[in-house]
Amino acid sequence: MAVTLPIYLDHAATTRCDPRVVDAMLPLFTENFGNPGSRNHSFGWNSEDAVDTARRQVADLIGADPKEIVFTSGATESNNLAIKGAANMYARKPAGQTGRGHIITAMHEHKAVLDPCKRLEKEGFDVTFLEPGTDGLITKDMVESAMRDDTILVTVMWANNEIGTINEIPEIGALCHDRGVVFHTDATQWVGKMPTDVKRDNVDLLSLSAHKMYGPKGVGALYVRRRRPRVRLTAIQEGGGQERGLRSGTLNVSGIVGLGKACELCAEEMDSEQQRLLKLRKRVEDKISASLDVIQVNGHADKRLPHITNISFGFVEGESLMMAVKDVAMSSGSACTSASLEPSYVLKALGVGDDLAHSSLRISFGRWSTEEEADFAADKIIEAVGKLRELSPLFDMHNEGIDVSKIEWNTH
Ligand SMILES: *Cc1c(COP(=O)(O)O)cnc(C)c1O
Repeated sequence: MAVTLPIYLDHAATTRCDPRVVDAMLPLFTENFGNPGSRNHSFGWNSEDAVDTARRQVADLIGADPKEIVFTSGATESNNLAIKGAANMYARKPAGQTGRGHIITAMHEHKAVLDPCKRLEKEGFDVTFLEPGTDGLITKDMVESAMRDDTILVTVMWANNEIGTINEIPEIGALCHDRGVVFHTDATQWVGKMPTDVKRDNVDLLSLSAHKMYGPKGVGALYVRRRRPRVRLTAIQEGGGQERGLRSGTLNVSGIVGLGKACELCAEEMDSEQQRLLKLRKRVEDKISASLDVIQVNGHADKRLPHITNISFGFVEGESLMMAVKDVAMSSGSACTSASLEPSYVLKALGVGDDLAHSSLRISFGRWSTEEEADFAADKIIEAVGKLRELSPLFDMHNEGIDVSKIEWNTH
């Protein structure tokens, strides 16, 4: 079967909306357009019914009660509501003072967790940013060592969006419950791909996003535990009091229905998809490691999501590699900031050197990825790396047995 170009292998950035999700959403724009807050006519009731169904679909996917689901605009908002909302609710001192409480997170969290934590640091909270191991994992022991008497919140992502590594979430959750500390996890890359049960896994607050699981952009949810323990939050957006006062604003009904349908489909297809995606990932990793030396797959070998791989290629420059493989949409290990190309802070946190971080690719598979696409991508990458290395004097020196990392460059 021939492949159609360009190939999309960037599902960790966003996914195509499943046509079955779009079909479920369409009536909410036209016939069934009521405001679920309208309590005195059938337009409102129909719309409310649609939201109720979606709330149950989301809850079912993660083992929650529908009452524990708060709809938001996506994982960024869910993270902000969880982290700022819990910090402010459980603060030990009033606003304006220092020593308001201690928060534990990790250096390689998504910016949508790091930046709210940094904001809270400015507002009088202490924050510990844990350094992961070179395998990228955050373990229960790391969290336990960082715990203090005044720790009020732990926020650790379930699986990392750049390298796909899976943290010890159930164990960290159990530790937090022992210590009476609120536990939040950004599960945006995990939910829908891997079996999730917030009760079993000791999670208090969980963020998820529709567009990472074949739903629409701009909608997500926050799970807020109601029993053992009951977790309370301070709202960050105020107004009409929707979502039990935790998230005011007329509900994005079509988006919410799309999220619900996306959750239902993920639940149905999870087992088979997990196997299929893992095969695709291994296929690409095996092909590349069989043909190229001086590469490394970043992050723990097994404790990883089935669909994400992150590979560093020595002696090539990341942007040249991306250019050479532009028929395949992937992410590089560099982030464009206004002035320069910064190596990924996630890879840096694992101790990957700047050169290797710059020459990294994240490949992420999804529902419509095929073996042919995986092979095409692997072959293109192998060919491009080979060509770029032919032009690299450093690679020649490496092949002659010279340790290029020991060369002292004359920079004048
Ligand atoms: C994509 C992503 C987010 C942001 O989600 P939005 O819904 O786009 O706000 C947050 N955390 C992780 C881990 C992500 O992968």
